[in-house]
Amino acid sequence: MNRIAAGEVVERPASALKELIENGLDAGARSIAVTLRQGGLDGIAVADDGHGIAREEMALALERHATSKMPDEAIEQVRTLGFRGEALPSIGSVSRLSLASRQGSGDGWRLLCDNGVISPLEPAAMAPGTRVEVEGLFERVPARRKFLRSPRSEYAACLDIVRRLAMARSDVGFVLEHDGRRIFSLPPGQDREDRVAQLIDRELADNHVIVALEREGVSLAGVASLPTFHRGSADHQYLFVNGRPVRDRLLVGAVRGAYADFIARDRHPVLALFLTLPVEEVDVNVHPAKTEVRFRDPAFMRGMIVSGLRRALDEAGMRVANKADASSTDLWQREAVFAEPAPLQPAPAYGSGGGAYGGAPLLGDRQARFSGFAPSGRAEPVAPVPVEAREFPLGIARGQVARTYIVAEAEDGLVLVDQHAAHERLVLERMRKALADGRVARQALLLPEVVELDEPACDRIEARIPELAELGLEIERFGPAAMLVRAAPALLGASDVTGLVRDLADDLAAMGDAASLKARLDLVAATMACHGSVRAGRVLSVAEMNALLREMEVTPHSGQCNHGRPTWIKLAHGDIEKLFGRH
Ligand code: ADP
Ligand code: MG
Repeated sequence: MNRIAAGEVVERPASALKELIENGLDAGARSIAVTLRQGGLDGIAVADDGHGIAREEMALALERHATSKMPDEAIEQVRTLGFRGEALPSIGSVSRLSLASRQGSGDGWRLLCDNGVISPLEPAAMAPGTRVEVEGLFERVPARRKFLRSPRSEYAACLDIVRRLAMARSDVGFVLEHDGRRIFSLPPGQDREDRVAQLIDRELADNHVIVALEREGVSLAGVASLPTFHRGSADHQYLFVNGRPVRDRLLVGAVRGAYADFIARDRHPVLALFLTLPVEEVDVNVHPAKTEVRFRDPAFMRGMIVSGLRRALDEAGMRVANKADASSTDLWQREAVFAEPAPLQPAPAYGSGGGAYGGAPLLGDRQARFSGFAPSGRAEPVAPVPVEAREFPLGIARGQVARTYIVAEAEDGLVLVDQHAAHERLVLERMRKALADGRVARQALLLPEVVELDEPACDRIEARIPELAELGLEIERFGPAAMLVRAAPALLGASDVTGLVRDLADDLAAMGDAASLKARLDLVAATMACHGSVRAGRVLSVAEMNALLREMEVTPHSGQCNHGRPTWIKLAHGDIEKLFGRH
């Protein structure tokens, strides 16, 4: 067969691996063992304990379009994972493939296929099931071999495949070994939430809600993190449709919608969602590798996901705020109309933020809104305001609302400050200045902290150790799947080192290797700033609030947070008067 065409099914080790594991699942395996060498470039072996292949079918399995699974119905009706009868012949045409199989009580047989040349059957001593070994992928096809990446990135892609398939099938046991090391061993018959937590993050085990929703013949099930458990990227959100891992942008948008009231816009929950729907509702054949889907009714699926997540969070005691950002500014307007039909004239925001009042989230999407806090508006008696203080552009702190916003009185109006956004900005500006001056202070941790991450994430961080050191983070590799932090930037104070390192790994993954040093340093600094700043939800003393206001006044760019949103807004006296129809 045409070896270049084989590339449509097999692009890289991970795509061959996917086909082999899916064949094992189709064969009813209870356990699947995957062994990789050099990210699969040197070798891939997949062994299953499924029903095996009859002796007379062995050679057939390596012939093109010799699937045993083609159903009589239309192609969309296909329920098994593989159906094209192309995977084994394609892989065999561009590698040295060994196929060994034994059915229940019968004997075992092995067949070799060396770049398309099939050798005669020979007996093989083995347990019932099937074992496929692939070596030297694309060795004879330089045109494709040169598109393969480093063992490190090929391994990352393989790990992603095994992870997704193992999440999809928590009833099946999975063992993964790479270069002689056991990466994980998952027993068969696991609960889905245990399986997902083991594969994404062990801490998820104590920080999740269970999702379960049925609607018009469609069911949604899964595991989603509490809003307090989040990551810096949406990479840890998995979607499965009819048991098959898929990638669909619909998921990211729907998840964002569901968590909008509880989680900062730049943070992402961790989750795995499983949609089960009638086969005619979804087209899985959009992409040859079947990782993309097309829903007949995407709006309905999006609605399912949003409702399923909201309901699960609701039941877990999360209070869903019923107003989104945009509507909160209307609230002010409506009051104004009630008093007297007078349109609200948005006041320009003060300082470099520039004219942001109209679009500003007056009540943002901060965490504090969900966590079941009682209304927490608070105004402490403050010492008499010194005369010169009236000149402070951001005014004097008068109180705190929702443990998230500082209310200040300025000479010309009322100022609201988003404490987290503002502080984050200040920390970043301090960090940038220290970086520019070449003196980022670091603080040794009392006890070095071990942060567990998967191997590709550790590799990415390891490759950036000198840059991170420049930013004050002293970190080193600690075995295959962990990093050791010895010192953190002093600016960050006692912040959550583990969370910081995980976010950095996500950032580095999102950015890729191509980004410039400056861009990388900047992103890392921003991530650090986020971790080093006061969170929404923290009670601040009046002195702390005033200190924050004063620092904002003297810091460049402090009017916008690191994500481009305003950090504060001002309602001028004139505007307040208009709200009450007093003008
Ligand atoms: P497809 O899975 O699309 O049928 P493949 O090329 O992946 O095509 O496999 C060809 C055939 O080989 C399958 O139809 C099946 O009969 C057999 N086969 C492959 N792998 C296994 C396995 N692990 N266990 C049992 N049978 C297998
Ligand atoms: Mg197959």
